[in-house]
Amino acid sequence: MIYLDNAATTRPAQDVLDTYVKVNQNLYFNPNSPHQAGLQAEQLLNQAKAQINQILNLEDRYDIIFTNGATESNNMALKGAAYNRKPYADEIIVSVLEHPSVLEVMRHLETEGFKLRYVNVTKEGKIDLEHFESLMNSNVGLVTCMHVNNITGQIQPIEEMAEILEAYPKAHFHVDAVQAIGKIPLTFKGIDSMSFSGHKFNGLKGQGLLLVHNIHNLEPVIHGGGQEYGLRSGTVNLPIDIAIVKALKHAVHQQDDLHQRLTEWNQQLRRFFNDYPGVKVNSPDTSAPHILNVGFDGVKGEVLVNAFSKQDVMLSTTSACSSKRGHLNEVLLSMGISESRIEGSIRISMGAVTTEEDIKGFKAAFKAVYEEMKELLKK
Ligand code: PMP
Repeated sequence: MIYLDNAATTRPAQDVLDTYVKVNQNLYFNPNSPHQAGLQAEQLLNQAKAQINQILNLEDRYDIIFTNGATESNNMALKGAAYNRKPYADEIIVSVLEHPSVLEVMRHLETEGFKLRYVNVTKEGKIDLEHFESLMNSNVGLVTCMHVNNITGQIQPIEEMAEILEAYPKAHFHVDAVQAIGKIPLTFKGIDSMSFSGHKFNGLKGQGLLLVHNIHNLEPVIHGGGQEYGLRSGTVNLPIDIAIVKALKHAVHQQDDLHQRLTEWNQQLRRFFNDYPGVKVNSPDTSAPHILNVGFDGVKGEVLVNAFSKQDVMLSTTSACSSKRGHLNEVLLSMGISESRIEGSIRISMGAVTTEEDIKGFKAAFKAVYEEMKELLKK
C-alpha cells in the first residue's frame, strides 16, 4: 500500500508507542495525588513540559497544556481568548482558509454576539496582509491564522501578521500549527497561543498540545478539578503526554532533512504532472513541500480517490467543508480556481515515512488512472 494521506494522519513511530505502553505500565499514577507515586508522576509531567520548551526553543515563554488534539486546543484557545476579551474587544479576525476546528468555533462565537471579520485571501491562497491591516482596530480581541494550510500546503505570513499586531496589544493572536510542525521552521514571535496534534507527526491519535504565552488571557472552557492551570480540568493522561514529547523531538530534529527530501519529491511530481494535459497543480510554488493539491478538470475528486485506491494508493479529495457554495472547497474557491477543477481536486500528502519507492509507485498508479480518465478531462 502506498500511503499519501499524511496530512490526514500519520503512522505512529514505534518508540512513541513503546513510551506510551511503558509509562502506562510503570507510571500510571495521578500527578495530582499527594503520595510519593503521584509526586513522581508530577515531576515527570513537569519535565515533559520543560522538554517541549527546550525542543521548540521557547525559552520558557509559554505554558504547555496537553490536550487530546488540535480540535480541543483550538476550541480552548479561541473560546478562551474571545470570552476573556469580550467586555472590551468583541471583534474577531479569521479567514476561510482555516480548518473547521477553527471556523466552526467562529460560527459558534458569532451566535454569541461576537463580530466576525473575514480577511481576504490572495490568488496564492495566502492572507491578504493589506486587507488584514485595514481590518485591524482597537475593538479586535482575537486574530486567528493557521501556519500552513491543510488543503494546499500554503505557508501563511505569520511573522508579518505578528508585526502588524504589535500596534494592537489587546488582540490575542492564535496560530494553528498542525500542518507546520516538523515540516517548516515555526515562528513564535508575537504569538499568544499555538495548537498541535500529535498524530500529524507520527505521534498518537488523542494527543495534542496548546502553547499559551499568558494563561491569564484565557477563560477556561472545560471546568472541573482545575488541573492544568485551571484551563483543562480532567485527570492528566501522563503516558500520552510523555509520548507526544518523543514524537515532537523526532519531528523537530529531522525537520531539515525531511524538508529537503520532500522538496525534491514535490518538485519531481510537479514536473511529472506537467506532461499530462488536463492536470494542474493547485498548490502554489511557495507551499510547504509535504502537501500537493492537484486538479483534474472534468473528473470528480471522489472518482479519482477511488481509482487510486484500486491501485493501492491512498490519498484524499478536497471537496469537504463548504457552507455557502454547496460542496466546493472554500480554500480553493478563495484562490479563484475554477469550479470544475475544484471538483476534480485531490490532495497528495507526504510525511516522515514516505519513501522514494512510494513516489515511484505513485507515478505508475497515476499513469494507469490517467489512461482511464483522460477522455473525460478538459484540456
Ligand atoms: N487544524 C488543521 C490545520 C488540521 O489539518 C487538523 C486535522 N485535520 C486539525 C486542526 C484538527 O486536528 P485533530 O483532528 O487532530 O483534532
